[in-house]
Amino acid sequence: MERNIKTIGVLTSGGDAPGMNAAIRAVTRTARYHNMNVVGIMRGYQGLIEREFVKFTSSSVSNTIQRGGTILKTARCMEFMTAEGRKKAYENMVEVGIDALVVIGGNGSLTGAQLFAREYDIPIIGLPGTIDNDLYGTDSTIGYDSALNTIVECVDKIRDTANSHDRIFFIEVMGRDAGFLAQNSAIASGAEAAIIPEGKTDVDQLAEFIERGKRKSKNSAIVLVSESQKDGKGGANYYAERVKKEYPQLSSHVTILGHLQRGGTPSAYDRILASRLGYAAIEALLEGQRNVMIGIKNDEIVYVPISRAVKMNKPINQELISVLNVLSM
Ligand code: ATP
Repeated sequence: MERNIKTIGVLTSGGDAPGMNAAIRAVTRTARYHNMNVVGIMRGYQGLIEREFVKFTSSSVSNTIQRGGTILKTARCMEFMTAEGRKKAYENMVEVGIDALVVIGGNGSLTGAQLFAREYDIPIIGLPGTIDNDLYGTDSTIGYDSALNTIVECVDKIRDTANSHDRIFFIEVMGRDAGFLAQNSAIASGAEAAIIPEGKTDVDQLAEFIERGKRKSKNSAIVLVSESQKDGKGGANYYAERVKKEYPQLSSHVTILGHLQRGGTPSAYDRILASRLGYAAIEALLEGQRNVMIGIKNDEIVYVPISRAVKMNKPINQELISVLNVLSM
């Protein structure tokens, strides 16, 4: 059902991701193009609850497309997880006259958005903003490509040392529940293996990798490891410790890339993706869409019900696993 939207609020929530500024810019400029007012909400849901509102004009987002992080700041907000917190947020929105909300964030942020939209009659559009690429229904999320490039640059540097000293390096990257960063950075950096949460649970991924390495008689290796932990197992330190105990003849080292992966200038791909998704968010609202995430599939803009985007597990393409296994010989 279409309704007259005069003022939209925009916020970023959860972990920051390169390209969030390009998304804020696109949302703001497209809304202004259609003569809507724009309210920038600071610090995600926290700002909605604490009324940290800033009137945004087209010039508020000048000179931001190339900047990492988020000019709106972001936060993890426990209060929004409670019904009272969301009630406060809703009352503040009504008071300042925000008719619709654009939420840029990851799985958690969009889960919160879905709940909020169910409880109150507010049109909400979600934009996938997370380096993890773990939202269902979109080929890529804002920030993923930039983080991937950052990781590959770091791995290239670590490989020089790995080669020179005949060492195994376990390099831990982000992605608690999703192995996209580990798998694809392993392919892009010519690494020997990736240990990811989607890997077969009935197979010991470390033993398999060592066996493969022996067959190929390699002296040094790079293994990309997702940060995920299950029952105290997982992460780069866990695997390096196991190598020390089970294969003492091998020399292993750990590098945890940590927050380095989030920062920095967004890639051209992420800037374009964020611009397209931000533009589409306003077009979707004008069409009367609500409670959908804007995604991209085969280079086409798609609307994905937020409930599906956050609930369904996004599968890793099995071909990527075969590509790495074969090419790492
Ligand atoms: P990233 O992928 O970078 O971790 P994210 O959006 O998944 O980003 P979260 O920390 O999971 O990050 O969620 C961000 C915020 O979204 C939370 O701090 C909270 O305010 C809100 N949120 C998350 N889950 C819920 C929920 N079930 N109900 C209400 N709000 C939620």
